[in-house]
Amino acid sequence: MDRRMKAAWGRWSLLVGLALLAGACSSTGSLSDSKADFTSIESNMRGHITRLASEEFGGRRPGTDGEALTLDYIEGELSRAGYVSGTNDPGNFWRSPVPLVRTMPVSSRIEFRVGRKRTVLPTAQAAAFTGGRRALIEGGEILFVGKQSASVSDEEVRGRIALMLSEPGQSPARRETLFGKGAAAIITVVDDQQSIDQVREFWENEQLGLVSEEQDQLAGFASAEAMEAALGAKKWQALLASAEAPDFAPTVLDATGTIEAVSERRQITSHNLIGRLPGTKPGSGAILLLAHWDHFGQCGDESLEDRLCNGAVDNASGVALMLELARRLASKGQHDRDIYVLATSAEEWGLLGTKAFAENPPLPLESVVAAFNFDTVALAGRGAPVGFVGEGKTPLDAVILDAITRSRREVGDRELADQFLQRQDGWILLQKGVPAVVLSSALGSREVVDPYLTTRYHRPSDDIDGIELGGAVDDLLLHESLIRRLASIARYP
Ligand SMILES: [Zn+2]
Repeated sequence: MDRRMKAAWGRWSLLVGLALLAGACSSTGSLSDSKADFTSIESNMRGHITRLASEEFGGRRPGTDGEALTLDYIEGELSRAGYVSGTNDPGNFWRSPVPLVRTMPVSSRIEFRVGRKRTVLPTAQAAAFTGGRRALIEGGEILFVGKQSASVSDEEVRGRIALMLSEPGQSPARRETLFGKGAAAIITVVDDQQSIDQVREFWENEQLGLVSEEQDQLAGFASAEAMEAALGAKKWQALLASAEAPDFAPTVLDATGTIEAVSERRQITSHNLIGRLPGTKPGSGAILLLAHWDHFGQCGDESLEDRLCNGAVDNASGVALMLELARRLASKGQHDRDIYVLATSAEEWGLLGTKAFAENPPLPLESVVAAFNFDTVALAGRGAPVGFVGEGKTPLDAVILDAITRSRREVGDRELADQFLQRQDGWILLQKGVPAVVLSSALGSREVVDPYLTTRYHRPSDDIDGIELGGAVDDLLLHESLIRRLASIARYP
C-alpha cells in the first residue's frame, strides 16, 4: 500500500442488463467441491507468501537481488500456468523496464533574513530535500499560504518560497498543487519535534523516483518553534491566527529565505513483470490483474535486531492472490478476452511502476475492460464484508455489486474504501480512463484494517506469522466468478 495517497464511461449500456441475466445461469458447484477448493487455494497462497516474504527475498526492494528472485518466481509460476510474456516487446521478455533514480540526502540548510537579522534554522528542527543533485534558492521571497493551496494564484506563488502549515493527510497533495503552480520551494511547518523527527526519518533514507518525472523540487520542513525564532514570536503568532480566519489571503512576508539541499543520485533499472493468457477472440479486449511486488527491504528502526521488512501482507499476499487466481483462470476453460497479469515495481514510492506501465502500455489502455488490483489482502477472516474501492467511478458497478450479492457477502464501509482510492496502483489506471477497482475483505471495515495499520504496516512485524487468509480466499473466488463473466463476450458484451 502506498503511503500517500476521471473515469471514462465507455462501454456502459443496456447490454449490461443482458450480461446480468446471463450470469444468473452459471452453475455454482457442490458444497464439498467448494470446501476442497477453499483448502487448496489457501494452501497455494500460503506457499507463495512463504517464499516471497522469506529472508532470502530480502524484503523485495527494487534494484536488489530480491527483485531478481521475485521476478524469477512470478515468471516461473505464470509460465507454468500457461501464460506467455505480455510485454509485447521481444527485447524485454516478461520484464518491462522501470527506469528509476535513487536519491540519498547528503546535506541541507534553511536560513531566514528579516531586516538585518539572519537566522539559520538548527538542523534538529529543520531540513530540506531535493531529488536533484543540488538545489539552491538564495534570498527568495516568501509567500505565507497558511493551509491553502488550490486557492493560491499561480502569479502569487510562482518563483517564491511557499511557507505552508502542515495538516495530517493533506500536506503531500498541497505541496503537489503548489509546485504545480510554480513555487520555487516549499517549507512545510510541522507542529512538534515528533513530527519533524518522522519527516527526517522518512526523507533521510534513500528515495526512489521515476527518471521520467522531474526530480529537482526543493522541499523543506521546519518546526513551529524554529519559525517563531526566525520570524519573531509576535509575527509568527499573527500568521498562525490569520491562517484560521475565514477571509485568509496569502501574504508576502517582510523576510527572505535561503534554502539549499544536496543529494547523491544514481540511476537504476527496475522492472514490471507482465504475463498474458491469450484469449480465443483476439481484438475483443482484455482483463488486467495487478499487484505490486516491491517492498522496502531493510526498513526497521536501526536499534532493532530484525530490521527486515518482509512485507508478507504488503504485498506478498496480493501477489499470491493474483498468482493463484491467474492459475485457476488458466486451468479451467478458455476465455474470449486476453487476461493480462501485471506485477508492478516501486509502488511503495508513489505508484511508480504503474505510472511507467501507463506511460508505455503493451496494449491499448482503452481495450482494458476491467482492471483488478490486489494490495494488502490478507487481513480478514471468512465472510468479511467487501471493501469496494472505486465504486461509482467505472461502468462496472452493477456487475460487481451483483457478484458480491451472489457470493452472499456485503459491501463494506464505503467511506473507508474511499480513503484508499488514491493510495493504490489502480488510481493511476483510473485516471487514464481504465475501469480499475479493488475488491477486498481487508478494506471492508476499520476493525479489520486499523489494527494492521497501527502495528504492522511498513514494519518488520509484517511477516507471515499468524497471517489470516480466509477473507483473501473469499476475495479470490469472488474475482474468479466475476472475471469469468467479464472475459466472456456473450456474458459481458
Ligand atoms: Zn506499502
